[in-house]
Amino acid sequence: MIVTIDGPAGTGKSTAARALAERLGFEYLDTGAMYRAVAILCVEDGIDLESDAAAARAQARPITFVDGRTLVGDRDVTDLLRTPEASRAASLAARHPGVRAALVEQQRVIAAGRNIVCEGRDQGTVAFPRAGCKFFLTASPEERARRRQQQLERAGQAVPFEELLRQQRERDERDASRSVAPLRPADDAITLDTTRLTSGDVLDQLEAHVRRRMD
Ligand code: C5P
Repeated sequence: MIVTIDGPAGTGKSTAARALAERLGFEYLDTGAMYRAVAILCVEDGIDLESDAAAARAQARPITFVDGRTLVGDRDVTDLLRTPEASRAASLAARHPGVRAALVEQQRVIAAGRNIVCEGRDQGTVAFPRAGCKFFLTASPEERARRRQQQLERAGQAVPFEELLRQQRERDERDASRSVAPLRPADDAITLDTTRLTSGDVLDQLEAHVRRRMD
């Protein structure tokens, strides 16, 4: 069974998706990491993030996940994925239809025939429209920025709250207004507002929904 979890950054999506996969004994696919990986390599190589060359790069070098590490070709980019610069670059690269097509194709190959939780922005709408169970997580902008700030602090990066809120707003607008695969819930997705929920509550609710579908 394929389970999709979509929604904007800071809704607790990644934590929930990872933990849900573990509880269910499913695999986990972090598709944001794929956009980040492609974008990082383009920035390093001076390739315009919104150009056809970026799409060619996404096509030419498949992304793999090995022992919790993210590889592009044989290059390990794991430690570069979680910076604000990588977030910004990923949301630019994600606007290119060719980049999206290349990564969606890779996502389908990875998920084929598996029990897997796929997390991103377009997993229920574009990548896996026939997924067995679809979720869309939301939370207030302030709560999302607060969570992002804590996450960055844990990684040793101090970024002011107002700056995070501003970056988040920019990224949300780009994700929701792009012409290809804009961020939106699938018609048959279950939407969950996580603003006032603990990560444990979110996980319990997701698990209960999936188990009902599996029965
Ligand atoms: O989820 P994460 O914050 O790591 O994603 C980084 C960026 O990649 C997002 O802001 C979004 O622009 C893009 N993305 C996407 N489709 C996905 C996953 C991520 O467009 N399925």
